[in-house]
Amino acid sequence: MSLAARNVVHCYGDVVALDGVSLDVQAGKSVALVGESGSGKTTLLRCFNRLVEPLSGAISVGGIDVRERDVVTLRRTIGYVPQDGGLMPHWRVLRNVALVASLLDMPSRDEVATEAMTLVGLPAAQFGSRFPHELSGGQRQRAALARALASRPGVVLMDEPFGALDAITRSDLQAAFDALRRELGFTTLMVTHDIAEAARLADELVVMRAGRIEQRGSLSALIAKPETPYVEMLLDRALAASARLREIE
Ligand code: ADP
Ligand code: MG
Repeated sequence: MSLAARNVVHCYGDVVALDGVSLDVQAGKSVALVGESGSGKTTLLRCFNRLVEPLSGAISVGGIDVRERDVVTLRRTIGYVPQDGGLMPHWRVLRNVALVASLLDMPSRDEVATEAMTLVGLPAAQFGSRFPHELSGGQRQRAALARALASRPGVVLMDEPFGALDAITRSDLQAAFDALRRELGFTTLMVTHDIAEAARLADELVVMRAGRIEQRGSLSALIAKPETPYVEMLLDRALAASARLREIE
């Protein structure tokens, strides 16, 4: 399922969060939004499942303008992993994972949720009856991912899903996600501040700054020809950090 944004503008009061953004993501591809905090990444992501209704411009999913879609059916086709995971703290994990299926009134919602938990490596028999605070950070992110995948969406939107995790847990989750994406074939739009993560999980990077797209391309294309000083600075910083790591090794 493809994604498209055409000339999208959005403001919060006086703050211009999106300043004329156009973006295409082909079906089955994975694209990462990168750039400094406040550049509009989350706002753009949330336009696709209508958590944000832009002031002007158009958003389409699977070639259809989202304003023509019923919000519930739209969200059934779009899995969403919000920045904090978004699990209800007073609901057990299985009920959290079954949330979308329950909203859709699917009779087999517990089976659907159990299957999704198996998929992300968090067996329901062991973890389904726990509360979110009884999981580790990595397990909570797996649960959030299971909830997003439970209705087998054609698109997955993720907002810094692996950000708050230690390096090993993060790497495990990245590998699990990459395998799932290849197996299930959904289109991915993700936000990350980590260039290495973007390079690992996405076919292309989209660099945002002050509500605009500065450049898009594969990591190697961006490194070969950064088009703005900001893109150059961002890549220099990321490359310097990975060079420092190699020195330590
Ligand atoms: P990012 O995800 O890149 O950090 P956001 O999309 O969250 O950026 O924010 C873009 C801009 O919009 C920022 O200046 C932010 O402060 C502002 N903003 C985001 N959400 C709100 C909101 N609900 N109310 C007011 N301003 C907001
Ligand atoms: Mg954000």
